[in-house]
Amino acid sequence: MSSKEEYLEMLREAREQLPAVVVSGERFTPPKPIIAIEGKQTHIVNFKEITTALNRDPKLLARYLSKELGSPYFLTEDGRKLILSRRIDPRQVENRVERFIRTYVICPHCGRPDTVIVKIKKAWVLRCQACGAETPIPKI
Ligand SMILES: [Zn+2]
Repeated sequence: MSSKEEYLEMLREAREQLPAVVVSGERFTPPKPIIAIEGKQTHIVNFKEITTALNRDPKLLARYLSKELGSPYFLTEDGRKLILSRRIDPRQVENRVERFIRTYVICPHCGRPDTVIVKIKKAWVLRCQACGAETPIPKI
């Protein structure tokens, strides 16, 4: 064996000794919203991070929160922050973000977050890329 082959062999053995990745038991832990009350507004400081982790359009979560919390909203120009133009109890905001994740991100069949929202005719469907399930979801 050449030294390169030996090296590759060593890598292969090292990899085999690693525990198998447990996909289904893995916990999905998107960042918790960081909320700041600024005057009469409620800011979600890490909004972009959250929507990136959830792999969702920021406008979708923004619209959902605006509807659920009964507050107009705007996104900052750089898209990092969501600003709700009302003072809202941070626990309520957290609760709604969790609800959004349960309804619009997590597949109810297998519990994985690897989903996309597709629009079939006029209905919205959560399509799971892990198990293939399609679940109707309410429109936002
Ligand atoms: Zn699934």
